[in-house]
Amino acid sequence: MHPDGDDDVPSPGYAELLSLAQREATAWLEAMPSDPIPPLDDATSVKDALGRELPERGADPVEVVERLARAVRPGLLTSQSPRFYGWVIGGTYPVALAADWLTGAWDQNGGMRYASPSTTAVEDLASAWLLDVLGLPAHAGVGFTTGATTANLVGLAAARERVLQRAGWDVNRDGLHGGPRVRWIAGAERHTSVDLAARYLGLGAAALVPADDQGRIDVDALADALDASDGPTIVALQAGNVHSGAFDDVGAAIAVAHEHGAWVHVDGAFGLWAAASPRRHHLLQGYEAADSWATDAHKTLNVPYDCGVAVIADAAAAHTALGVRASYLVAAEGAADPHETVPEMSRRSRGVPVWAVLAWLGRSGVAALIDRLCDGATALADGLRDIPGARVVNDVVFTQVCATFGDRTVQVAERLRDDGQAYAYPSHWQGQDVVRFSVSNWATDQAAVKATVDAVGRAARDVGVGG
Ligand SMILES: *Cc1c(COP(=O)(O)O)cnc(C)c1O
Repeated sequence: MHPDGDDDVPSPGYAELLSLAQREATAWLEAMPSDPIPPLDDATSVKDALGRELPERGADPVEVVERLARAVRPGLLTSQSPRFYGWVIGGTYPVALAADWLTGAWDQNGGMRYASPSTTAVEDLASAWLLDVLGLPAHAGVGFTTGATTANLVGLAAARERVLQRAGWDVNRDGLHGGPRVRWIAGAERHTSVDLAARYLGLGAAALVPADDQGRIDVDALADALDASDGPTIVALQAGNVHSGAFDDVGAAIAVAHEHGAWVHVDGAFGLWAAASPRRHHLLQGYEAADSWATDAHKTLNVPYDCGVAVIADAAAAHTALGVRASYLVAAEGAADPHETVPEMSRRSRGVPVWAVLAWLGRSGVAALIDRLCDGATALADGLRDIPGARVVNDVVFTQVCATFGDRTVQVAERLRDDGQAYAYPSHWQGQDVVRFSVSNWATDQAAVKATVDAVGRAARDVGVGG
């Protein structure tokens, strides 16, 4: 039926279109492990295949979905491949994707308890389980955000509200102008998303403290920075450096910062998951004493985009910073509404896939996932060290490996991409070019690691490294 005039009811309806989507998605997912990783088409070809003009008259919905699937596929980066190590991305567990599809189908507004008792209940359980598996205080507030950038925003928003309130300033009422200056302090290798979150909040640039050769904040220098002035202060620490995977000495840094009355936020976008593994928990020694934490589920937990997690020890600080009231909103009794711990009001119930993965893996399964990723990184580093002319430049403590191939490093990354069997991205760290590998995908097994080392060895030989 053509959606002309008053008649915009799509026909065929849900069943046929969802089956079509399922067939197309399954075909893509099943081909993925053997498909070349880089995109074959660029955005220009994809737009041409989709058709550039807004249609005057609508089209058959089956044709629209088919066209979408067909046009897009050659331009997809196969970032769910077990041999994909670019940035810190991660794949998607089947159970998470299935839960995500249901979440889309239900289309609940997850911002208000009253609007969706069911998905709020799922997210309440997911929140409690996350606090449990991550070893965080059971009374903490949890917000499901779009990612770790917005989770950092939640942490810093709660921090800003609270440190100003302690200084006798109500930022919600009076804004920042004329108030005490909020100092925020971070290590030189903090993630740029923390800067961005601070920018949203009008906090300006961080006072930077030097970091060591693995990117960890220098705690003595932090103490000196804290001594240098007083007033409302926020300290942002990092659990998991994107190049080295290194963890700040969070326990020592939190102790120093708390002595000075500062709020401590920990950006653990991927590193906070070390807490879930008895073998890696020591990396985070003392982290549970912080005031707020940010992490991602769409990276290490392997749920689909977009899903970050903000945790605030004193949930009321987040509710004061981000909660709103309006006559038409029905506020929950006895418990905060989900929208009070995130920047958005309306949102999808993005915590549902988190529940599904935790229900499926259980505590031991999450620990096994973290250990498998870390062991994969260790095996990858061992393999890379055997390649003539290659050198691993970081201490491999978690999921990140940086390798250099001298003055051919960028060429090795380019050759690797052209080869298409494994994918890592060039970067620049600690004064040298590196190829950066992040082991973040649940499907990366020993065979994938071996194939990756072979592909890197080929790429290095092809561009004349070590010969
Ligand atoms: C990825 C990452 C972020 C940002 O997370 P998004 O989910 O992309 O918003 C922040 N900090 C660290 C350490 C990261 O790795």
